[in-house]
Order: sequence, then C-alpha cells, then structure tokens
Amino acid sequence: MLRRAAAVLLAVLVPAPLAAQTSPAPKTDASMQRVDTVPIRPAPARPNPNEAAMLSDTSITAMYRAASRRIVAAALRDSSAWERMAYLSDTFGPRFSGTPHLERALDWLAAEMRRDGFDRVWEEPVMVPAWVRGEESATLTVPYEDRLPMLGLGGSVGTPPEGVEAPVLVVSDFDELTARCAEAQGKIVLFDAPFTSYGRTVAYRTSGARAASQCGAVAALVRSIAPHSIATPHTGAMRYAAPMADGANDPALAPPLDITPIPTAAITLEDAARLHRMQRRGTPVRLRLKMEARTLPDAPSRNVLAEIRGSEHPEEVIVMGGHTDSWDVGTGAMDDGGGVVAAWEALRILKELGLRPRRTIRVVGWVNEENGLRGGTAYAREHAAELPNHLLAIESDGGTFQPTGFGFTGRHDAFGLLEQVGPLLEPIGAGRITRGGGGADISPMRPAGVPQMSLSVDGSRYFYYHHTEADVPEVIDPVELARCAAAMAIMAYVVADMPERLPHGSQTP
Ligand SMILES: [Zn+2]
Repeated sequence: MLRRAAAVLLAVLVPAPLAAQTSPAPKTDASMQRVDTVPIRPAPARPNPNEAAMLSDTSITAMYRAASRRIVAAALRDSSAWERMAYLSDTFGPRFSGTPHLERALDWLAAEMRRDGFDRVWEEPVMVPAWVRGEESATLTVPYEDRLPMLGLGGSVGTPPEGVEAPVLVVSDFDELTARCAEAQGKIVLFDAPFTSYGRTVAYRTSGARAASQCGAVAALVRSIAPHSIATPHTGAMRYAAPMADGANDPALAPPLDITPIPTAAITLEDAARLHRMQRRGTPVRLRLKMEARTLPDAPSRNVLAEIRGSEHPEEVIVMGGHTDSWDVGTGAMDDGGGVVAAWEALRILKELGLRPRRTIRVVGWVNEENGLRGGTAYAREHAAELPNHLLAIESDGGTFQPTGFGFTGRHDAFGLLEQVGPLLEPIGAGRITRGGGGADISPMRPAGVPQMSLSVDGSRYFYYHHTEADVPEVIDPVELARCAAAMAIMAYVVADMPERLPHGSQTP
C-alpha cells in the first residue's frame, strides 16, 4: 500500500522532466493534447548468476531474455501508461456506447496512435446500442422515507413518470422466488443473493428481471454484484430474453420477447441486507422506483486498430487489446481503460526499442463490450478470412493490477511453448502461465480456432470498483500498469518472433 501510494505521489507531484519528449505539433484542440510523462522508478537490475550457462541455451526463454529485459526497463522507466490511462479517463469522461464522449475518446486514441508512428493505424465502423439512463431514483416510502443509492441496469425499460410504488419481496435466490412466486405478484422483487463468484452471481443481474416478471412483479432490484461495498451500487447489462448460449448480451440478437419487460436496478449490499432484515422481522416495506431509462436507435462507432508489421510473415497476426467503451458511471479507468492502454503501450514500447518481430502484432481497442459485444463480434466477422493466420488473441479486461501471468486456452503443444515465456516474466512477478484464459472481445474468434489468452492479475479488488462511480484512475497503480504493459509486450513479441508458429486451435485436445 505504501509503495503504491509513493508511486502515485511521484506520478502526480514530480514536475515533468520528460516534457521535452512531447510532440511539438501544434495543439489545435483539447482532445488532441499529448500527455506528459514522469519517471516512476529506475529499471530493476537483477543480475543472473547463471548468465554463462544460459548463453548456450536455445530455449525460447534464453533466446528472448535480453529483449525481455529491455522491454521491462522501457516500460518501467516512466509513467507514460498511467498518464495515458488517466488522460483518457479524465478528459472524455465515461465512454458509454452511443455517446459523443466515447467518440471523442476514440478520435483521441486513433490520433495518438498515429503520432506513435506505428506501421498502420485505422478504424473499422461498428454500429452500437444506445441505452440512455436518464434520471432515476429508488426511495423507501414505508416505514420511513429514505432515498437509496441505486443504478438502473443497462437495457432496462423505464418507469412511468410518476414511478412505480409497491411492497417489496426480498428473496435470496431464484429457488426462493420460484417457491414464493405467487407472493411476488404486484410487488418489487429484490434479489439479495450473496456474492460467490462473478460468473455465478451475475445471473441475478442479467436475468433477475425476467424471473421476477414471470411471477408478475412490477419491478426487480438486485443486490449489486460485488463482494464488498461502501454503499456503492454497481450497474451492468441485463436482458429480458432467455439467456443466449454463446453468452452474447446484444439485445438485437435476442429471441422474441415472451415476458413483460419490467424496470430493474441495482442497490447496494448494505441496503439489500437492511431490507432483507426488515422483512425477516415482519416490518412492511414499500419502495418507489423512478427511471427514465430508454433505448435509442443504434449509433455509429468503431474499433480502433494499430499494428507493427511482421518482417517475415506479415500475414500472420498476434492480436491483443481491450475494450474502449465503459459504463456511463465512473470513467472506466480500470474497466477497461487500463487494459486498452496496457496493450497500446506494449506496442509503443516495441516500436520505441526497434523490436520488429517476424510476424505482425496488432492492437485493437474493441468497442461496446459492456452492453452488446458489437466490436468483438464485428472484428471476428470482418477478419474471418484472416483468422486461420491469427496465431494468438490476448485480452486484458480483468483490471490492470499487479500482473501474475497469462491464462491460455488452446492446444497442449502451444501451451508448452508459451510456458517457456513464463521465466521471462518472472522479474515483474508475471511468470505464471496457466490453463484456461480468454476474454469477451476475443471470444468471437474462438470458433475459428484462434488460441485465446488473458492477462492474469491480482484481481482481489477488481469487483470493489467494477461498473461503479469509483472506477477512476486512483484505482490503478502506475508501476503495476507499467508491468502489465511489459508483460503484454513480452508475450506478444516472443510469440510473434519465435521460430516456430504457435499451433492453431482454441480447444484443449
Ligand atoms: Zn470490461
């Protein structure tokens, strides 16, 4: 904690001695300003007593040890990754699909990538959903008046202007709702389901309104999907249609609606617990929910792409990135500003060091992961013919905390090659290569056999901030983000440059 605080202080307080590195290009517009960087700490010096033995080693580990050290030193030399993430967050605000904020952020991202001088920077159009939150509130009316912190769920319908007011029925899970279905008629159902894992608990957010509507409820509330809270509601996507097999959450792809859509929102862990206690004591509880939420026609947006072309096999591609959109609360610093910036910085570092691999490395900022996955879907569709030559897809979308390694989904022989990259990542604590990895935006490439990989991080605090007003730059430590960039640069560079082509296939045989 102390180290983190010190690094943040340095990043914030030290005057910018590297300002001379900034572009002399005239600044025409606030969104085009280049971000300044400051040193964060000297490069780590780790003398290796086995240096001589390693010189005769022909393993991937040995071949790329020198390059990896240079990458780590370059990444940790200054706070450029953190400054770019903070600039992105502070300057454009929340980057929600369908908003001008997002489009201005994408303009900046593409312009900055062009200034970085990559071989190619381009944009590919994507139509995205445009859900608008509007004004919203949840007010306890009985036994006393109290306004509860809340966030409508993405995709929800609104209430009539006067709101809906009804008694509350609290249930712990779907089974309890099924057992008490008749009681839910005309009520506001609150799911107070304890957080186990995100994957399991998120079903109450995505499908709670559907289940409540099937029992005749007039609205549905969900305890925020988080393990810990300081009275912070967490938003996220929901859908009225039955769950889709592929996990996509695009309302446009959903089957025809077979229920009455009811308004739905998240409240805090504390309020869910309070209302549940009151119900157990037999205290009648009523709530009034007001939401202006509505869905506008789809809006134009884009994926933003940059690449360093391979020197020998430019048609073979290692693709990596994160998603550029965020929710409409907070500024998406962690989800997924840090992820996009880590991949982008990884490419910038390779360019700066003159490390041109044999194969192409492409960075993609996918759009609309949060409430549609349209960017990831469009990329896989537009590049379908190239996917047999997409050797690896890497996503960072689990927060850019201390990296611990990479998770991989693909063939055993591919895993064996990637394991040899692990020791190169150990100096920054990211040497654990584990089985099982991927990400939402790269998942549409999986049916084509593109091996899937995720940056693994210490995720213990991720869901404290996820989809909340608190997803802001302070969540991210400059050194940890720099290490994430270094880890992605090393992994992408080695796979793009190693003599052997990484075997294709996205299933473990
Ligand atoms: Zn995300």
